[in-house]
Amino acid sequence: MKKLIIVAGIIMLASCATVKQTTLPAKESSARAVRGHTVLPPESRSDKTGRDAKIMAGLDSSSLAAAEDQDHLILATLWFQKSAEMRALYYQCFRTAEIALAENLEWTGRTKPAAVVLDIDETLLDNSPFQGWQVLEKKSFNNDDWFRWVELARAKPLPGSVEFTRYADSLGVEVFYVSNRTVQEMGPTIKNMAALGFPNADSTHMLLKESTSSKVERRALIEKDYEILLLVGDNLADHSGIYEKRDPDHDFAAVDSDRRLFGTKYIVLPNPMYGNWLNDLLRSAPGGTEQEKLMKMLEGF
Ligand SMILES: [Mg+2]
Repeated sequence: MKKLIIVAGIIMLASCATVKQTTLPAKESSARAVRGHTVLPPESRSDKTGRDAKIMAGLDSSSLAAAEDQDHLILATLWFQKSAEMRALYYQCFRTAEIALAENLEWTGRTKPAAVVLDIDETLLDNSPFQGWQVLEKKSFNNDDWFRWVELARAKPLPGSVEFTRYADSLGVEVFYVSNRTVQEMGPTIKNMAALGFPNADSTHMLLKESTSSKVERRALIEKDYEILLLVGDNLADHSGIYEKRDPDHDFAAVDSDRRLFGTKYIVLPNPMYGNWLNDLLRSAPGGTEQEKLMKMLEGF
């Protein structure tokens, strides 16, 4: 399914004669890989009233990024915001997570208390309004705009996410959040998640990024005192360090090797908008612009 979305997005790109270069500086590309994105509704283009207008106004005032078409994000972001299939998939994944967690809890060989580890962006919180804003305003990702979005603390919960974390909490499983939001973003992130009803929305249970995007060390810190029964995220690096740097085969062989972990210990949520999968394509493909790189990776018949 993810492949179909990518292919459809690239077809849309090919039909757009006005697409400009969208190559990001290395630092921004790296930050983008660990952040959320979103799209504001079309009415925000002309109607600057209401909640979305406030978001736009707050972001418009001090955006530093140069104008840069983000049209390659349109279809993926619309799918994330407007498809019932996306909603159903999130419910499906969190229902699978509940079943898997209950089963894993039955194992009696555990020597430490049980824990579940969840990513935040595009796992629990929907940042697609930020990505939509990028498309509408033709802004590539930059940390200043992202931080202003985070500071608003208005991200909505993804379908089934609050319910799952509360279910885990009700079973006595310690809920941890391991995210590559930075430690400077801790305050508004806690405010946002606490207001939505996520359990353990506090600095003890939220392990954010300090100096490295790798989550391996932070998971190891949790594993000193807990046994992690389940990992939930939209990027495979949320589940294992082996997926942090992709092999030339896009880690297909690694996924095949781990196949029995998916749905039992690893719960993977759909994110067609950004992630290591996209960074991998942009890094490995020849060409100048992002569009050129993506087109060269496309398989036809
Ligand atoms: Mg994420």
